[in-house]
Amino acid sequence: SKADGRGKLKVFAADMLLARQMRNQLVGELKEAIAGSQLVLYYQPIIRLDTREIEGVEALVRWNHPTRGIIMPDEFIPIAEDTGMISDLGGWVLRTAVEQLKQWRSDPLTAGHNFSMRINVSAADLQRLEFIEDVREALASADLDPSLLVLELTESAVIQGNDLDRYTLNSLRRLGVGLEIDDFGTGYSSISYLRQLPVDTVKVDRTLLSALGSDPSQPALLAAVLQLIRACGLAAVWEGIESAEQAEYLLSIGCTSGQGYYFSRPLPEAQLTEQLKHHKTW
Ligand code: C2E
Ligand code: CA
Ligand code: CA
Ligand code: CA
Repeated sequence: SKADGRGKLKVFAADMLLARQMRNQLVGELKEAIAGSQLVLYYQPIIRLDTREIEGVEALVRWNHPTRGIIMPDEFIPIAEDTGMISDLGGWVLRTAVEQLKQWRSDPLTAGHNFSMRINVSAADLQRLEFIEDVREALASADLDPSLLVLELTESAVIQGNDLDRYTLNSLRRLGVGLEIDDFGTGYSSISYLRQLPVDTVKVDRTLLSALGSDPSQPALLAAVLQLIRACGLAAVWEGIESAEQAEYLLSIGCTSGQGYYFSRPLPEAQLTEQLKHHKTW
């Protein structure tokens, strides 16, 4: 009835108000979190599938909220992007990750491993000219070779592909940092687009792997995706490896890099440091 409808509408409006109030509160708190020290990086290894050595770590940000505990990035990265806080957040991630890599490379107990640092870059970063300078400075102050830093860019971030994006990407490229397309296979990128971008690697989204086993056409699809990436002259990293079978299958079709819970979940710095000290392979 009409009365019912109006009642629902009221409840709905109240829900919206509550959602907006909570969001506003989160925006204020996130500002403090970035300025204070509530952000923390977790690190997930990227593994060479043939030798099982570590070849990279991806820095993944978490918010260690004083009362709510650990908040995952999907809950606050979009807010940071909408409110312009993402450049401060991204700057913090960049400096912290690069400093951490320097630490692992200079500690004799962990320096036996040779791996790069991967960070996630947001579309807004590519729109800021200062970002190039931020990257250069972070690497210089940690005295690290630029090739030890790989920037992961989502398809949606680079596919907008305006002139500024292109300028930034080319400048970063000249700087010598690695560039990687993240979440490949979830967007609409064409082959020509893959070939035009100044990137070295492509990280295939985990959703492509999850149907392996249940869907009989999936193995052939994975092999075709890998061939496509190779034909474009790019290297592939596969994410979301959760089982030995998946790791073996990917290796059998010639994929040599992977990441996923099967090898390791993202770990706090202290835990990964322990692993690095005691493990040669994963
Ligand atoms: P992403 O870059 O695609 O990161 C991979 C996500 O998959 C991570 O979630 C990771 O924990 C998860 N994952 C890794 N291995 C497996 C697996 O075997 N199975 C499954 N089911 N999941 C796996 P997380 O840490 O929650 O990050 C989510 C997203 O948040 C990231 O997706 C990235 O887009 C964004 N993000 C994280 N840190 C940052 C950051 O510092 N800056 C920006 N701009 N975005 C970030
Ligand atoms: Ca990523
Ligand atoms: Ca991804
Ligand atoms: Ca993602």
